[in-house]
Amino acid sequence: MGSVVSPRRDVFPASFAALPRLVELARTRARALELAGAIVRGAAHDHGGDALLADCTAAVTELRELVDHRLRTRPDDWLRSFRDLLATAGQYHWSAVLEDFADDFYPLPCPHCAGEVTVAIGAHGCYAAIRDWYRGDVERRPLRSASPAELRGVGRWMYDTATRDGQADIAWGITYLFGRAQCPHCAAVFTVAEEYTAANLPPCPGR
Ligand SMILES: [Zn+2]
Repeated sequence: MGSVVSPRRDVFPASFAALPRLVELARTRARALELAGAIVRGAAHDHGGDALLADCTAAVTELRELVDHRLRTRPDDWLRSFRDLLATAGQYHWSAVLEDFADDFYPLPCPHCAGEVTVAIGAHGCYAAIRDWYRGDVERRPLRSASPAELRGVGRWMYDTATRDGQADIAWGITYLFGRAQCPHCAAVFTVAEEYTAANLPPCPGR
């Protein structure tokens, strides 16, 4: 590392130095597993975090296996552990933003007209709309969920893991997250997950 940039910068690599030891402890201790997961999730928030993780490949691989093993036991805090799993797989975006689909909103710009669209996935409905300060979500258009067979890549993996572990609500939400929305402004159709990811890529010069 170079000279001191900020206090946080100082602390961050130290936590990575502790990762291999923490993962060793995590084989038998739940608290160590939790801490190790939090360190890897934190990698998303720091430029250079990826490089630090690359130095700990073996520890991250073992952590991923330990977290996956825990998920199969269907713990009460399944979603939190699943966010750890996503981070160990390098899926920092979904690790940071995935919720339980009880009441989730994904604001994003339409890729065609750039108009602001609010995508809702939850008990209140699954739709794309224009969010109006006074009138709520107007001009709602229903989302089209992806069938499990249509899912590819990370969406498929997320869906399969949730299904494997009996997380029916999460699996259900993922089919909408990786499904299609229609823009209420211009009627263009797009994939929610793709546009939401593109809208939230961290500004990371040099990557
Ligand atoms: Zn549009």
